[in-house]
Amino acid sequence: MFEQDSQNNFREELIVALVKAGISSPRLETDIILKYTAPLYPKITEEEQEKALTMLRRRLNHEPLDKIVGEREFYKFVFKVNQDVLTPRPDTEILVEEAIHLLKDNHKRIILDLGTGSGCILLSILKEYPEACGIGVDISEKALKVAKENAQRLGVEDRCTFQNCSWQQLEIAKESIDMIVTNPPYIESSEIANLDEEVKDYDPQIALDGGKDGYKCYKEIAKLAPSMLKKEGYILIEAGIGQAKKIREIFEKEGLVLYKIVKDLGGINRCVILKK
Ligand code: GLN
Repeated sequence: MFEQDSQNNFREELIVALVKAGISSPRLETDIILKYTAPLYPKITEEEQEKALTMLRRRLNHEPLDKIVGEREFYKFVFKVNQDVLTPRPDTEILVEEAIHLLKDNHKRIILDLGTGSGCILLSILKEYPEACGIGVDISEKALKVAKENAQRLGVEDRCTFQNCSWQQLEIAKESIDMIVTNPPYIESSEIANLDEEVKDYDPQIALDGGKDGYKCYKEIAKLAPSMLKKEGYILIEAGIGQAKKIREIFEKEGLVLYKIVKDLGGINRCVILKK
């Protein structure tokens, strides 16, 4: 066990190392590292210090903290994450809020999440809205393993199924879905090399790459969504910066009607909602 002074120095040491590496919230991140490695801090054992320093070294390599500790808060819940899934972003919480707002009635609803990844969107909705059932689709089997664990963590596993296939391969009865939610890959292929190390080196490429113009997945989903949705069903789509207008046009062309476009907390048009 270390003396009080050296304990404080230890926290300080971590903060300074993170500041020097240009990490933007060094105090917060230090406290998170300590929460996972030394839950009784300021009491800390030598072994706990070693664990904290191992995490610090990974963070100094620009591995995102959530991937180091294996968990990330999203909306109101904590999700398991790893290198197989896109880290849930706060910007995406707006999709969940809007979905829950639209579901505020007492009817049973079926929700389909295209490219579910960690499951954070679908599972948050299911947790908040106990009448709903969900289907999470992902082409990555490894991502679905994480989503299934998250379904159990949130205690909603009885109300959701997962399908390991592309959205084109998905067999869904015609007009059976009340709501589609999706945060598909939307970064232009040529832009991926310019992303922050935290993103390009640690989020799966397959979850980021939206093809040459960034709209490849939106176009594919727009072709499929109208026949899957029930009459008056909704689709809630995450948009990258500057993409909302064109996404709207892509889906309108397939016969859906704009319901609204919602900004995230940073003022970006982040969620495009259309109705059948
Ligand atoms: N929002 C993510 C980013 O900008 C990208 C997620 C996506 O392509 N769907 O890093």
